[in-house]
Amino acid sequence: MTAEPFWKSKTLDQMTPGEWESLCDGCGRCCLNKLEDEDTGEFLYTRAACKLLDIGTCRCTDYPNRHDKVPDCVALTPQNVSSLGWLPGTCAYRLLAEGKSLPWWHPLVSGRQATVDEAGITIKNEAYSEEGLSVDDLVDHIWRLPKPRRRRTT
Ligand code: SF4
Ligand code: SF4
Repeated sequence: MTAEPFWKSKTLDQMTPGEWESLCDGCGRCCLNKLEDEDTGEFLYTRAACKLLDIGTCRCTDYPNRHDKVPDCVALTPQNVSSLGWLPGTCAYRLLAEGKSLPWWHPLVSGRQATVDEAGITIKNEAYSEEGLSVDDLVDHIWRLPKPRRRRTT
């Protein structure tokens, strides 16, 4: 009998640090600036990414020191994931916290990082740096995150 993978057999707070980190699909969506609609509470994403994000790789360029340079960068934990309403619906941490499965394109499922691009989840080629933009400018950069593409079949 094949053992269930850790993301199916463990709760978020049972995972090792390595398992926890591997849940991140590297999409970069959470590193985009967001605006909150005061009337509806809805979070609106923008194409303006945090100044520390490498848009080409969707990775933080100074992950160990990010909280010194970007004080409002929120570290995800098993305790806070459920309360972060701005996390994208495609985020593995959010999906698992909501009792959902990882999708076909998640690298842990597909075995390939490229499926994040193939499903249109990555922000590569879509986002740009926030540098030079003021908070007031952000409303002109609102972006509705695309839904995941279907898996290609042959
Ligand atoms: S949205 Fe979730 S999966 Fe994507 S980069 Fe952020 S933490 Fe990782
Ligand atoms: S500091 Fe790094 S992890 Fe935090 S939002 Fe910016 S790019 Fe993302």
